[in-house]
Amino acid sequence: MKSALPPGSTIGILGGGQLGRMLAMAAAQLGYICHIYAPEKKSVAADAARHFTCAAYDDAKALAGFAQSCAVVTYEFENVPVDCAKMVAGHVPLRPGFKSLEIAQDRAIEKKFVQDLQGQTAKTAYVENLEQLKAAVACVGLPAILKTNRFGYDGKGQARLHDVSDMAGAWDDVGQQPSVLEGFVDFAAEFSVILARGLDGGIVYYDSAENVHEGGILATSTLPASGAVAAHVASARQIATRIAEKLDYIGVLTCEFFATEAGPIFNEMAPRVHNSGHWSIEGSVTSQFENHIRAVCGLPLGDTALAGTAVEMANIIGADAGKWADYLTDPACHLHLYGKGAPRAGRKMGHATWVRT
Ligand code: AMP
Repeated sequence: MKSALPPGSTIGILGGGQLGRMLAMAAAQLGYICHIYAPEKKSVAADAARHFTCAAYDDAKALAGFAQSCAVVTYEFENVPVDCAKMVAGHVPLRPGFKSLEIAQDRAIEKKFVQDLQGQTAKTAYVENLEQLKAAVACVGLPAILKTNRFGYDGKGQARLHDVSDMAGAWDDVGQQPSVLEGFVDFAAEFSVILARGLDGGIVYYDSAENVHEGGILATSTLPASGAVAAHVASARQIATRIAEKLDYIGVLTCEFFATEAGPIFNEMAPRVHNSGHWSIEGSVTSQFENHIRAVCGLPLGDTALAGTAVEMANIIGADAGKWADYLTDPACHLHLYGKGAPRAGRKMGHATWVRT
């Protein structure tokens, strides 16, 4: 506890979305003050924090002022520019470090990093032009998914290929950007390993929920997961642990996997709290948000045990946010709304959690 930041200290958060908002709420519970840094004028994280700097990620002066006002800085999304993270790290501890961003921002680097740690990934080929896509299809086979190297999330920046005639269209769909072609994984289920690693290197793991995606976006997380997931959690945790240790990671780390007959296949990592861990706010003794705050502040990590026998989390996406009153008619439902303005198709507006005891 010698290096722990005492309550009352200011935690900086790069990024202004709902993950920053839930981190700020967990930080407030422990008596910390949050300072959000984001380029968007309207920030749902800033709505729940004491301080807000609205400035570009390459504004060196604003970043220096922000960093100097904080005892530690963390981030709530993985596309914070690495140069920005480096600038902040020049002034104040940045947890997790910028190396995690470098890896998570580039699918090609991320896949290679995990393969080098003996993690299994989908069959992959790297593509920079249509000619290379033809060669990649010959190597990976069909069906396959073409994903942009950078800035893809929630199924965006992706195109599916079922036939060689899909190649030119898929290349246009991803904006003709450097991409990876992944063989289609025939999975039984999807799950994530969410762990928190403290300043002393100690690791705690959350139970792995079974995640169901619709249209590339997480729809539900359910615990306990089916046997198809449970059989692979131990080996998936080993891979996630190797990633965390290699990066000397501090905070919550999420690794998404496909459960297959050949074992867990790594899909992608997020160096942050994750949508598939939202259930932990009510469904675990200590939420992912609290454990991230504990980790970056050098506090002991909290218990990750399930708070009930079963937990279900459902995302509230787009116009479904208008059904908020219906959710509240169910007294067992924990409703979370992110305070975003107008709902747009595919926009995450909130989530609901049910814990069965
Ligand atoms: P991603 O943005 O990479 O997490 O992909 C979004 C969703 O698309 C995943 O959660 C899967 O449901 C599906 N998906 C992505 N990659 C593959 C793959 N190689 N094989 C099968 N399904 C995939």
